[in-house]
Amino acid sequence: KSQPSKHAVPASNVTFADIGGQERAKNELKEALDFLVHKDKIEQYGIRPIKGVLLTGPPGTGKTLMAKAAANYTNSAFLAASGSQFVEMYVGVGAQRIRDLFKEVKALAEKNGQDSGIIFIDEIDVIGGKRDGQQQREYDQTLNQLLTEMDGIATSDKPRILLIAATNRKDMLDPALLRPGRFDRHISVDLPDKTAREQILMIHTANKPLASDVSLDKVAQETFGFSGAQLESVANEAAIYAMRDQSEMIEARHFALAVDKVMLGEKVDREASL
Ligand code: ATP
Repeated sequence: KSQPSKHAVPASNVTFADIGGQERAKNELKEALDFLVHKDKIEQYGIRPIKGVLLTGPPGTGKTLMAKAAANYTNSAFLAASGSQFVEMYVGVGAQRIRDLFKEVKALAEKNGQDSGIIFIDEIDVIGGKRDGQQQREYDQTLNQLLTEMDGIATSDKPRILLIAATNRKDMLDPALLRPGRFDRHISVDLPDKTAREQILMIHTANKPLASDVSLDKVAQETFGFSGAQLESVANEAAIYAMRDQSEMIEARHFALAVDKVMLGEKVDREASL
């Protein structure tokens, strides 16, 4: 028996305030979510319900955080899965997992007395990648099941289901997924600019003892091209350096070492994968 819940992440208490920068992406997502919340209005105007939101952008920029914040914002039941969990040797298992995921999120919403459920699928390209002629239908059963489930969503459903998917390879997606009524809202979640980097550093150092010589503005300046996940790492590594030093506060030099370490770590990873 397939068990998506084994891998599913429970809803957390992530809110939009925990996401640094990404103002445009957050606003676009909130606007889409308002359609989920105010469904009477949507019905009144005969607007087609939003069923799928696609978050695109490089790894570690906060796409998963956005999906979790979306669940909190709308008080929805939340289940998360990754595209790679649906790839199986046996035909039909992936499709069954999709079916189960929809059933489970509905059951969860009902159990919690919530009006809506959000399913987050990371790495959607693994299920919904373009196929060439060779990779045939059987393999597409998972994708077909997902499309069938999405097509079955209606505004009047109780609970209402919304899909949020993430990919960093939008160009690879099967056009069937992007058709109107499916993932037709695309929100790009980009690498943070300097201001956003400073905000992200502030979020991840809020619980840490910073020495007065630490300037997060300066750290933000020196971390051009870093993702949110890398900035979280910088904050964490700086704290580890301070602890090793038995320094009571995290000092500017600990941040300098941490920036180097995260930068170098990326370089080592890249070379190892070449
Ligand atoms: P992937 O594509 O690799 O799954 P993602 O875009 O889903 O990445 P997340 O999993 O949301 O990225 O981010 C990983 C971690 O990086 C988060 O748990 C958080 O600690 C940190 N992070 C990323 N972006 C931000 C942000 N904008 N604000 C605060 N923290 C962030």
